[in-house]
Amino acid sequence: MNIIFFGPQGSGKGTQARLLSEKYGFFYFESGAYLRRLALEHPDIKAIMDSGKLVPDQEFTSYLTAYLDEQNLYDGIIFDGFPRTVEQYLFLKKWLSQKKVSIDLAIVLEISERETIKRLSARRLDPETGRIYNLITDPPPNDITTRLIQRDDDKPSAISRRLAIYNVKTKELIEYFKKNTKVIRINGERPIEEIHKDIINVVESLRPK
Ligand code: AMP
Repeated sequence: MNIIFFGPQGSGKGTQARLLSEKYGFFYFESGAYLRRLALEHPDIKAIMDSGKLVPDQEFTSYLTAYLDEQNLYDGIIFDGFPRTVEQYLFLKKWLSQKKVSIDLAIVLEISERETIKRLSARRLDPETGRIYNLITDPPPNDITTRLIQRDDDKPSAISRRLAIYNVKTKELIEYFKKNTKVIRINGERPIEEIHKDIINVVESLRPK
C-alpha cells in the first residue's frame, strides 16, 4: 500500500506521516528533507529551494527513482511533498505501475492560509541536528535557542510563493487524483493525537484483513 500526504506547508503532514509510518512500518519519504540533503552538494538545487520555487521535474525524478531503485523500494511508502503537480503524479504512477504497484490513498490535511503563515513564521531549524521546532506549538529547549535559524524558505516572500504553488498546482492535482483514487480530507487544526486517530481509522478500513 502506498499513501500520499497533501497539505499546505505547516499543516502538520510531516508529523502525521511520520507517526503513521512508525505505527505500520511504512517507509517515510519526505521530498523537502531529501532535497535539502541533496542541496548540500548541489548549489543549483539550494538556490532554487531558497527562492521557494520547485526543483525541475526531470532533475528531481531522476534522483528520486535512483534512490528508490537502490533500495528496491516500491511498496509500503508514505510520500510527503511528492508528487505535488499533475505531471509529477503521472510520472510516479507510471513508474510504480511498471513495478506492479499502485498508489492507494491520498490524505489531505487542511488548514487555513492564516494558520499556515502563523505556523511557518514561527518555525526554526536547529542547524546542528536538523530538527525543526515551532516557537508556539513545539518550543525548543532554552539552551539551544541562540543557535536556531529560520529557513530561507520560511521567510515571508518564499512562504507566499510556496503557498501559491500549493493553491494552484497541488490543488489541481488533488482534483485530478480524486477521479480514480480515494482521497480523504482531514481538519488539520486539531490536536495531533486526534488527527492521528482519524488517519488510522481510514488506513485500517483499507488494509487487507
Ligand atoms: P517542503 O519542505 O516540502 O516545503 O519543500 C522544500 C522545497 O523543496 C520546496 O520549496 C521545493 O523547492 C523543493 N521540493 C520539495 N518537494 C518537491 C517536489 N515534489 N518537486 C519539486 N521541488 C520540490
